[in-house]
Amino acid sequence: MKTIVITGASGILCSNLATDLAKKGHKIALLDLNIDKAQILANSIKSKGGKALALEVDVLNKISLEAARIEVNRIFGPCDILINGAGGNHPKATTNDQFYENIHGVECSFFNLEAEGIKFVFDLNFMGTLLPTQVFANDMVKVKNGNIINISSMNAFQPLTKIPAYSAAKAATSNFTQWLSVYFSKVGIRVNAIAPGFFLTEQNRELLTTKKGNLTARGETIIKRTPLGRFGTPEDLISTTEWLCDEASSFITGIVIPVDGGFSAYSGI
Ligand code: NAD
Repeated sequence: MKTIVITGASGILCSNLATDLAKKGHKIALLDLNIDKAQILANSIKSKGGKALALEVDVLNKISLEAARIEVNRIFGPCDILINGAGGNHPKATTNDQFYENIHGVECSFFNLEAEGIKFVFDLNFMGTLLPTQVFANDMVKVKNGNIINISSMNAFQPLTKIPAYSAAKAATSNFTQWLSVYFSKVGIRVNAIAPGFFLTEQNRELLTTKKGNLTARGETIIKRTPLGRFGTPEDLISTTEWLCDEASSFITGIVIPVDGGFSAYSGI
């Protein structure tokens, strides 16, 4: 039974992972800005006999992360596995247009992207992975054993149109995963990442579906470019996460695993 710390644990993808890993008997620390949702999730896990602890944490605030580590250590013991799930995009870092066509009056073209929005996205996805690692890997180096799983994205392999900051930040997350796997290789800590393809969540629902639930043009393009012909469901991430958490993957470090229905393999031709 491991102590697993999950950031962004109240979110759609990570709440599912948390519920599954708790079912497998692990002790799950649920770290999120949204403490109400984290608490509801902790109660739900506990009502089924699992072990969970909800903590209000900002992954960009080291003091808040250190305080969470003290609580996790006190209640569950040292962190064995860290899943860096907090992440996301921001409208202020998103262009309206796919291509620059010199149309005047376009509000959110590349030239109007605000530094504030770009910085928000970089911080959340990259610093929000690095800072929790600096804090919780302290438990791992002490015992020369540990496991870190980052959440990257398809954007890391090939940028998607409209979301330059999110794409670049997830590319940085994948790159950091490789760097960290080498850095920690002599102290028994494995570092890998999962790169989900397209999962219909609150973050992207408006981009991919209409209010009536039909696909938008972007949603249709994605499905056409996904050989398995559908969006992912949160359950699709479970087996890969379980495998990375398990000793069965003990020789695996420094990889970024696409869980994408074949999206990254398909050129569209
Ligand atoms: P989500 O928006 O449902 O969950 C993100 C969670 O992170 C939320 O609970 C939010 O409260 C929390 N959070 C945000 N800022 C935080 C902060 N500063 N400190 C602590 N918690 C914070 O997102 P999701 O769709 O479940 O995505 C989870 C991860 O998977 C993210 O890293 C996302 O970028 C990545 N991802 C998602 C998709 C997709 O299709 N949904 C695809 C590829 C990658």
